[in-house]
Amino acid sequence: MANFVVVGGGAAGLELVTRLGKSFAGNKQHTVTLVEPSGHHLWKPRLHEIAVGSFDNELDAVSYVQHSVCNGYQFVQAGMSGLDRESKTIVLDRDVDGNNTLSYDYLVMAVGAVSNDFKINGVREHCLFLDSSEQALLAWEQIKKMLQSSTQQRISIVGAGATGVELASELAKLNQQLSRYKMGGSLAVTLIEAADRVLPASPKCMSEKVQRKLEQQGVTVQLNAKVQSASHHQLIVNDTAIEAQLQVWAAGVKCADWLANLDGLETNRINQIRVKPTLQTTLDDSVFVIGDNAECPQPDGSMVPPRAQAANQEATHLAKQFKRLIKDKPLQPFIFKDGGMMIALGHDYAVGSVMGNKLVLRGRWVRNIYDTIFRLHQQVLFGWGRVSALMILKRVKCLLNPYYKGSLS
Ligand SMILES: Cc1cc2nc3c(=O)[nH]c(=O)nc-3n(C[C@H](O)[C@H](O)[C@H](O)COP(=O)(O)OP(=O)(O)OC[C@H]3O[C@@H](n4cnc5c(N)ncnc54)[C@H](O)[C@@H]3O)c2cc1C
Repeated sequence: MANFVVVGGGAAGLELVTRLGKSFAGNKQHTVTLVEPSGHHLWKPRLHEIAVGSFDNELDAVSYVQHSVCNGYQFVQAGMSGLDRESKTIVLDRDVDGNNTLSYDYLVMAVGAVSNDFKINGVREHCLFLDSSEQALLAWEQIKKMLQSSTQQRISIVGAGATGVELASELAKLNQQLSRYKMGGSLAVTLIEAADRVLPASPKCMSEKVQRKLEQQGVTVQLNAKVQSASHHQLIVNDTAIEAQLQVWAAGVKCADWLANLDGLETNRINQIRVKPTLQTTLDDSVFVIGDNAECPQPDGSMVPPRAQAANQEATHLAKQFKRLIKDKPLQPFIFKDGGMMIALGHDYAVGSVMGNKLVLRGRWVRNIYDTIFRLHQQVLFGWGRVSALMILKRVKCLLNPYYKGSLS
């Protein structure tokens, strides 16, 4: 009998509990429990669409309560706040059935990562972040108010990684909708990046294509621009003030501070937990880590990147390994297969690099492949039947409704 506890129901954790729940269905010997503070799962790479009001929460949000009942795992709505490895228990931030601890035989940490404010003065207080659906909804509430103004409203986005680029482009598209529907107001979007190109972790030719497209869409791109401090409606960048009604921080990646000293587990400087190639923590074989939360080494000495596809692949791998584990078979190492990177630039265009970054593709059809990645995630959660129904429903809704909710507010 084994008791699996998975903490965090994001891209990695939710796929893992779904696979485990289905594998152990009918086998009452093993239990699978998901610990997650939110009531609904929204796929994180689409948070920028929530922030701009173009994501369909009704169709694409997953209720953990409902999903757990249909897929054979238990759902505990709480956040994890501590770990006691000796007694094999985790501490929860609230009481569940009169108890704030939960015991495990095997623990999987999958609590993801957040943006890194690099402790720059004023950023935490004066910028919005896009790390959770709640924050994305907050951004949408503010943008909705800005859309009601008849004067031009300015938005600064710091960080030209995937999040910042996709958000800037989505806002530029919203701006085009405003002028199409003659709504009066307009948005001026500035994307601020400390490196000398957008998407600094991608091949150079991809960065160039993405920057060209952003500029065509009307986004102002400022490179080699280091934010020194943030205050109310103002960023100081390279000693110059940039004014904006809304400031979004989308730079850097780090894990939450409470992970830095989690019952002595080894972590790196951005609080990721160090794991062996088997995804087991370096100091404790019964604690596993997947997704952005893990620093996982690869045979060539590199680390698995904090990306959605890595999270999905690790979940698939670990689900297989747990089946081996309960049969007393040795665990196999996780090898990341890099399928390339795709960046959506609005709803009808995407740029992607494939074949080990040798080939850069762009266009509407690349955007369709980008959508397929999300649908593959949904397929793991629901199966193809329901995903096909969702796709048809979405198409019908798009035909009957104006695309952006912003145009209705
Ligand atoms: C706007 C945006 C766009 C992105 N675009 C791309 C992209 O185009 N391509 C790409 O590859 N990647 C992209 N990413 C990154 C991608 O979303 C992550 O790599 C991926 O979601 C990591 O999955 P995860 O399961 O590790 O973490 P997450 O998906 O972040 O899930 C973590 C889960 O843990 C839960 N949690 C947090 N704290 C606790 C706690 N204390 N206790 C219990 N549960 C907790 C959270 O509520 C959440 O449900 C993007 C990210 C953002 C924000």
